[in-house]
Amino acid sequence: MTDRPAGQEQALEALRRLAGSAARTFLFAGPGGVGRRAAARWFAALLNCEGGLDEPCGRCPRCQSWRDADEGLVSIEDYRELAAPATTRDGKPTRRRVIGIDQLVPREGGDPDPLGPWLAAPPRARVRVGVIDGADELGEAAANAFLKTLEEPPAHARIVLIGSGPDALLPTVASRCTVVRFKPVAPDAATSRSVQAHATLRLGSAGRLLLQRPDDDAVCSAVDVLVASLGGSLGGTFAAVTHLQELWPPGDELVPALLRERARSHGYRGYLACDAALSQVEAASAAYAHRRLALKRFALALRRAWRQPPGEPLP
Ligand SMILES: [Zn+2]
Repeated sequence: MTDRPAGQEQALEALRRLAGSAARTFLFAGPGGVGRRAAARWFAALLNCEGGLDEPCGRCPRCQSWRDADEGLVSIEDYRELAAPATTRDGKPTRRRVIGIDQLVPREGGDPDPLGPWLAAPPRARVRVGVIDGADELGEAAANAFLKTLEEPPAHARIVLIGSGPDALLPTVASRCTVVRFKPVAPDAATSRSVQAHATLRLGSAGRLLLQRPDDDAVCSAVDVLVASLGGSLGGTFAAVTHLQELWPPGDELVPALLRERARSHGYRGYLACDAALSQVEAASAAYAHRRLALKRFALALRRAWRQPPGEPLP
């Protein structure tokens, strides 16, 4: 069975209701690392399960195939995730990650199997689910080329956009989506589960090993040192972030997950400010920007996040 996203009962309840509705294009909105991708898989499993009504049953052949997919044995024919490519066609790292038109619609010399025709093809089970991860990076040209499909996907298809919120999307895209909101999640759920889910998605089942890396304890204490420095001198924060940098390879999920957990005690505003700072430093790393400079900016943003008045507490 596919992993159930932890701490997102309200979102899952909304999806149960929406599974039987006419809505076919969704925006899973929320900060990073809260289980939106896991929820997209859960939703696809629910839509195709032959038994369960409220929950994928875990026993029917459709649910079995998800388990095989989790173990890297098969791919799910009716489920697909796409994201902006990290490299250009000739293998160079991209400076700015955008979802290309040819990932969505057929173009000469483009992706041989774009999302639009894939969604239109008949499903093997009941419903095809196409996920566009990083919908905030859906540019105007790509969005326009795909607008008709977003407006009215085939009856056997659902489209899930994963993004930070409707405000981050082009208005023409946002207006076509049914929004499902994901909250920042409880610490237990937020750290280990999301690290595991991300690692599994990126690396296949081998990603589970990531949780038992020998240097995890060192990372945890470096994060705690950084957090403790945020209320002190600026020099102390810079020193802490420089030390953490050595334990934080670009793209690694552990440090962001730990920081998000620590930010929870700073209310929604503090949490969201921390989340925004993390997104920025991750984007800078992906673009091969000057990492030391990016981390200095990150340290400043984090100090501001930690000074947010607590305001509304997190659930
Ligand atoms: Zn089932």
